[in-house]
Amino acid sequence: MMQMTVLASGSKGNSTVISSGRTRIMVDAGLSCRELMRRMAEAGEDASTLDAILITHEHIDHVAGLGVLARKLKIPVFITEPTHKAWVRMFSPRSTMSYAKWLEQIQREKEVRADTVAAEYDPGTDAVSVAHLAMVASEPHSALNQSVSAKTGLNPSDDGCSIIQRSARKTDPTCLPAVEHFCAGVDFSIGDIAITPFTIPHDAVDPCGFVFESGGVRMALATDLGYMPPNVKAALRRVDLMLLESNHDLEMLRDGPYPWSVKQRVMSRVGHLSNHAMAEFLENDYDGSAEYIVLGHLSESNNAPELARMSAEQALGRKASLLGNKLLLATQASHLESITL
Ligand SMILES: [Zn+2]
Ligand SMILES: [Zn+2]
Repeated sequence: MMQMTVLASGSKGNSTVISSGRTRIMVDAGLSCRELMRRMAEAGEDASTLDAILITHEHIDHVAGLGVLARKLKIPVFITEPTHKAWVRMFSPRSTMSYAKWLEQIQREKEVRADTVAAEYDPGTDAVSVAHLAMVASEPHSALNQSVSAKTGLNPSDDGCSIIQRSARKTDPTCLPAVEHFCAGVDFSIGDIAITPFTIPHDAVDPCGFVFESGGVRMALATDLGYMPPNVKAALRRVDLMLLESNHDLEMLRDGPYPWSVKQRVMSRVGHLSNHAMAEFLENDYDGSAEYIVLGHLSESNNAPELARMSAEQALGRKASLLGNKLLLATQASHLESITL
């Protein structure tokens, strides 16, 4: 038995829970911890039984809640080494600063620390001045979190998972309870789920799609890819369920609100899969084995669910009747009913 529950899919956040009888894995944590917990509860998924978090790539719509959720649940994160490093860099702004900026930040942090110590020894003194906080607030980084935490004892993030308490206010945002590095193309297992990670063409450092297998059931996840290269087509053979990207309608994207540079990025070979490219795959390369096809990562600005569905149905032709109503669309706003095979 395997189950897939898409918690969210789209450019504002992605997360899917894959489980077998014994093992439960979250693939990507692209919403805040609070929202992920809320959606899991809504979908009937027990967050406390998650065994691991698995990451496709470091874009924020796939990792927004990663650190906080992993620390809250105290579960390991499976991630490729380049993606892990990129994620650490994203949450460690100091390492990418100019020397002058770095010096400035160090000085500012020293001041915040001194103020914090002063405030602790004299609780009546509001040592961290409003002006100082406002200055720190212009930096969207950990200095703000630490200073606000120090001042209020609360985690200032909106995720509600306040594991950064007074006693551990210096929690490093890149700290994870445990990390396991995997490599694209090398199979590994989490519990009784066998995982085949495959490289996808996307503008991240080491992006991956996955095939999951347990008890003879195979489920695949392939979103965030600019086109369908042979290795992805091969990975999507003999699967019982596939979550496949159907990001944009080409005309809507061309005429839509995005700046030209962003349009070019989305359309490029390392951008996102269009309805047309998705349909071309289903028509020419799909082997017809899946009981369910779930279309995902639909753009809210440059796509319409009916267009994506129509493209897929037309491409499937006779195969569509075999799938019947088992062509589903994952959405950004809410979870999709669990699919059990
Ligand atoms: Zn994405
Ligand atoms: Zn991406």
